[in-house]
Amino acid sequence: MLVVMEATATPEMVAKVCEEITRMGLTPHPIPGALRTAIGVTGNKAQVDSDRILTLVGVQDIIHVTNPFKLVSREFYPENSVVDVDGVKVGGPEFVVMAGPCSVESRDQCMIIAERVANAGARIFRGGAFKPRTSPYSFQGLGETGLQILAEVRERFGLKIITEAVDTETLDLVASYTDIIQIGARNMQNYSLLKKAGRSMKPVLLKRGMSATLEEFLMAAEYIMAEGNRSVILCERGVRTIADHTRNTLDLAAIPYVKRMSHLPILADPSHGTGKKGKVIPLSRASIAVGADGLLVEVHHEPENALSDGPQSIVPDDFDKLMNDMRRLAAVLDRTCA
Ligand code: PEP
Ligand code: MN
Repeated sequence: MLVVMEATATPEMVAKVCEEITRMGLTPHPIPGALRTAIGVTGNKAQVDSDRILTLVGVQDIIHVTNPFKLVSREFYPENSVVDVDGVKVGGPEFVVMAGPCSVESRDQCMIIAERVANAGARIFRGGAFKPRTSPYSFQGLGETGLQILAEVRERFGLKIITEAVDTETLDLVASYTDIIQIGARNMQNYSLLKKAGRSMKPVLLKRGMSATLEEFLMAAEYIMAEGNRSVILCERGVRTIADHTRNTLDLAAIPYVKRMSHLPILADPSHGTGKKGKVIPLSRASIAVGADGLLVEVHHEPENALSDGPQSIVPDDFDKLMNDMRRLAAVLDRTCA
């Protein structure tokens, strides 16, 4: 349910309505807008007695939200949400590219790649320090040493950092180093992890599960927002289909759908979305064209020696080409790109 306040409603009137909502055993979420304030209401298991709220001073209208997701819904928040990652704004006019290796493998590896992607225009450096691997015998990541290397990349190149938190045990440690907490596809429905990421109050990038419907995807984002964290970035990273010419099928149609249903920014990950380095540039072009707010791309200077995801990692020279394409396409689409 959404309570729409009159344009002339004072902060005191908004506070009174919030008090009344709390008294009814529900949770109010005030959403200040340019013209008026709205108050999202969650916690209602059944139809709420809206007449009680309608009689309060300053209340103009009540809208019953039909979607199961509330805080992530455009019905709750009609404007595009812009997530501020320590000065880098995701979801605004700028098309934001996050790039780096699949895994943090060594200090040298990260410094070489970071220098190249920073010069090419990436704003955020990616790299896993804790890796969710299909096999327990595969490289699992450098752990805290990897996080320290990422912190050094931020210092040296001015890039912001994104890295994955794979479990609740290590989430606080990851949050203490990173600018964005990544929740991976395999953990999209790990509800205790989602709640803990929500409580961290850090920006969270939530990847779509490999078999998740859009409703399940948005409900997972709702878990993070329900903890009071508004800084959620979604990421389409490909889903399982009958196609075997690519590792996953990047569901490009999901992007305009999500943008219609939700105010949250959404990125595309053409690396996991295809699993093939030769398909990363064409799918990046398609992603910006369908309205993605940015990309998450795997770049490695020696993909043949990468400890994870070498076949889908592009080399820095190709990343330069990708960024040139993004800049030219951004201009056509009335966006900017560094
Ligand atoms: C990754 O970004 O390296 C990763 C493991 O992605 P996903 O969770 O989409 O598989
Ligand atoms: Mn990867």
